Amino acid sequence: MNKSKRKVVIAGNWKMNFTPDEATAFIGAVKPLVAGKDACDVVFCAPYVTIAAAQAAAKGSNIKIGAENVHFAEKGAYTGEVSAKMLTACGVEYVIIGHSERRQYFGETDETVNLRTKAALAAGMTVILCLGEVKDQRLAGITDEVVSMQTKLDLKDVTAEEMKRVIIAYEPVWAIGTGLTATPEQADETCGVIRKTLETMFGKEVAEATTIQYGGSMNEKNAAELLAKPNVDGGLIGGASLVPEKFQAIVDAAQ
Ligand code: PEP
Repeated sequence: MNKSKRKVVIAGNWKMNFTPDEATAFIGAVKPLVAGKDACDVVFCAPYVTIAAAQAAAKGSNIKIGAENVHFAEKGAYTGEVSAKMLTACGVEYVIIGHSERRQYFGETDETVNLRTKAALAAGMTVILCLGEVKDQRLAGITDEVVSMQTKLDLKDVTAEEMKRVIIAYEPVWAIGTGLTATPEQADETCGVIRKTLETMFGKEVAEATTIQYGGSMNEKNAAELLAKPNVDGGLIGGASLVPEKFQAIVDAAQ
């Protein structure tokens, strides 16, 4: 497994946190802490209304700002939704799709995740595609089947060329925001299953070049061990992405 073929990406998911002023202050604080740490890409995905302030604060730095979701239609009667065209018009390159909170609370399915993924890719964006098993599925011993199926459904009809702009975030749902973390071995093994699935779909070259992050209570204490694993190419960070020093420690662990 040649990890050097892949980009390490440390991405924060702010969820429903930070007003524009709070985002400006946060980026101002974190900017010097991650400056010059170019062994990984640094991204913060922000609520729609906070994106412009975060972008302005991050200008000239190594920090990129993304969105937390995108709709699949180009425009139309979808009250409350935002299209990929709207995001790219605002200079947004990255977008999280399929986060478990979207699946759990907002009825998103593998089908809608796939539609959103294809729309974002068609608009030229980079997608952070989230998938992972719930607790009962892990306890039932069907994690591999679940993540493999999600990978296939969520990336249906995506091309090998488009895969250059897909990052997968393996996020065991039982570990998100719970303080429970997958062991480095569990994270590595399941990221490996996702990579094997990518190989069957797109071939070895694409599978080896795709960044697969781990997400689920990654923090300043466990990041180094998780990131050292051969199949773990970065992290999607919730809680710890709201505290500059904690996020810095994770970026440092990726250096
Ligand atoms: C997330 O929101 O994707 C996440 C991993 O959250 P946390 O780090 O808080 O578990």
